[in-house]
Amino acid sequence: MPRYYCDYCDAYLTHDSASVRKQHVTGFKHKANVRAYYALFEQQLCIHEEQIRAREFQQSRRQAIQAPMYHQFQQQFHPAAMRQPYMHPQQQQQQQQQQQQQQQQPPPKEGQKWSFSKQT
Ligand SMILES: [Zn+2]
Repeated sequence: MPRYYCDYCDAYLTHDSASVRKQHVTGFKHKANVRAYYALFEQQLCIHEEQIRAREFQQSRRQAIQAPMYHQFQQQFHPAAMRQPYMHPQQQQQQQQQQQQQQQQPPPKEGQKWSFSKQT
């Protein structure tokens, strides 16, 4: 026969019967434990609510600070205001390298410019 376990008291009742259980539940010790349990629960709930309020407050403050910055950002980096489309940094680097290579190659001289087309 499984013993009755009381969550509030964190204890097993040696004899599980209706009368013993009723005796335990109505007992002073058990009632005190139940009250302590819910007091703790309420306390944790209060702390939790306080944390939520604090987070909301920080969020609203952050938004208040960020809002004007975001507006400025939007104005500066608005698609219409930007001449060049957005490029991935890696793409940008590749393009820069290509441009550098093109700059390193000497420009073809006037006479040699179309020589390759005459060879065909
Ligand atoms: Zn109990």
